Amino acid sequence: MTSSVGPMGPVPLRMSAAVLQGPGRLQVNDVPVPPLGDQDVLVKIDLCGVCGSDLHMVLDGWGQRGSWQGHEWTGTVLAVGPEVQRWQPGDAVVGGPPIRCGTCASCVAGRPALCAQRDTPGIGPEQGAFATYKVSREGELLALPADLDPRAATLAEPLAVALHGIHQSGITAGQRALVLGAGPIGALTIAALRARGIHHVVCAEPTEGRQALARAVGASEVCHPRDLVVPSIAEPGFIVPGAVDVVLECSGKAAAMEAGLAQLVRGGTLVLVGAGIESPRFDPNRILLNEVIITGAFTYSANGFSEALDLLASGALPVDELLEPDLVSLDGLLDAMRGLADGRLAGKVLVRP
Ligand SMILES: [Zn+2]
Ligand SMILES: [Zn+2]
Repeated sequence: MTSSVGPMGPVPLRMSAAVLQGPGRLQVNDVPVPPLGDQDVLVKIDLCGVCGSDLHMVLDGWGQRGSWQGHEWTGTVLAVGPEVQRWQPGDAVVGGPPIRCGTCASCVAGRPALCAQRDTPGIGPEQGAFATYKVSREGELLALPADLDPRAATLAEPLAVALHGIHQSGITAGQRALVLGAGPIGALTIAALRARGIHHVVCAEPTEGRQALARAVGASEVCHPRDLVVPSIAEPGFIVPGAVDVVLECSGKAAAMEAGLAQLVRGGTLVLVGAGIESPRFDPNRILLNEVIITGAFTYSANGFSEALDLLASGALPVDELLEPDLVSLDGLLDAMRGLADGRLAGKVLVRP
């Protein structure tokens, strides 16, 4: 069913969306297509990746009832608002980062992730890309590079997250890295470190499927987190054998954050990339005596998406290893989310709405 809008082409009135009904409950519903504002673009969703944050929103019930998630997507422009300059129907696009204010001290300093305005309340519940159509602001889209497989392009958002973690670590050629957790962000971090010329990339991961994934995407060594030596609080100056320059914590688990701090050389850096609920206990004397740095990585660097798309287009990443081979329908999304949560599925799951 379509309405007959003139110059912009026909705009559908209804669409399917995987609507959150409550914790762990999704239903594919027929819903109205969100209204198209003057500076908005209506995109037909081609593919949308399932993110760890989507699992929190749906399985843990953090999301708003009536909303639908999905922010790692590619699609085709179907219609544009009257003030849109940059896009026209038929353009192949990739979902990009949210628009930041561009004028606060953080934005001016090139750190949009820290924008003073970033928590400005949204305009209602999320209407993401686990749906047949999505409305986006004109400035929140990127062009799909001509030779890039849309499956690979759906990795742009999580890869931008991984690259931001790597930037925050300050790692340089010849240094050693440890990645904690080989979920989608951990796996992309391993692959991106290797593509950036870091050869010594250890991964600690408890599940067998993700250990295999870590190896497949380039980890030089894979271990179980219980094999990491964690010195007692009485030995704050003790540096473990095999200590690394940089630890990228991608699991969000408190125990991993604590173990990660203990794997650093003097002057090393721990970057918290994975978000969790439990609070780690860090030994202040270990931080002080060894002058280690603990920092975080939130969302993306200023050019994170273009850097991610360039890296994907370069062919330097093992995209087929990073993605689950089968596409999932909206009806299969909840089961896929459960599979990701329980470790049955190791790679990135792509949904074709
Ligand atoms: Zn994501
Ligand atoms: Zn700002």
